[in-house]
Amino acid sequence: MSGTVIAIDGPAASGKSSTARAVAEALGFAHLDSGSLYRAVTLVAIGEGERRGTDPAGVDPDTTLRSAEDRGLLLYPDGAGFAAYLDGVPVDGPIREPAVTRYVSAVSAMPAVREWVNARLRSLVRSGRNVVVDGRDIGTVVFPDAPLKVFLTASPEARAGRRISQRGHVIDVDELARETAALAARDEADSARPVAPLRRADDAVDIDSTRLTFEEQVGRIVALARERLHAG
Ligand code: C5P
Repeated sequence: MSGTVIAIDGPAASGKSSTARAVAEALGFAHLDSGSLYRAVTLVAIGEGERRGTDPAGVDPDTTLRSAEDRGLLLYPDGAGFAAYLDGVPVDGPIREPAVTRYVSAVSAMPAVREWVNARLRSLVRSGRNVVVDGRDIGTVVFPDAPLKVFLTASPEARAGRRISQRGHVIDVDELARETAALAARDEADSARPVAPLRRADDAVDIDSTRLTFEEQVGRIVALARERLHAG
């Protein structure tokens, strides 16, 4: 029997993953971060690019996916959710490195990569676990029948500011401008691609977190889940 899916989509650094994790915890669901799988595939493409002396975005997706399978890339249950493993070790640190962030939109725009990732996400849900899945196309393409879909946004400045404050230093104006531009470029790439672009599902609930505290945004989604799914 398939598990129940709560889909949380939205642009980069909108707080989807931390929100999804907290919602999952409150409801007793597992958290599934689809971006972590795209990032792990990108890490493999970077390795293949280095071996060939080519740009990772130019590596043929079949080559990347074959290498991903040979190296045992998978999402493995890690208590609260799933962690990406490659060569038998967790790669949560490496997949957040700037080189991966730089290439991830190009690699994830490849249809073969998307099919590969989607098959893995769906098989985790078919195994029966209830999950909160976050990404860009979860409510539109991967789990269009999800009984609760949320589209989480925040102003570009708020998103850039939150991203910088995770780095643990005081925000300066130049860094804020650079980060805002980098996020805008990634959102543009993710929204403009022909296959499964970042898009709000017609039946998604909009939550703009610009003026909400983290607890408020989590609380809203948990309340919606309890109302609609009688969950948790
Ligand atoms: O969520 P995160 O920012 O870690 O995602 C990294 C990238 O993975 C996104 O910028 C996007 O290119 C890709 N992605 C995607 N579809 C998803 C999740 C992530 O294309 N469902």
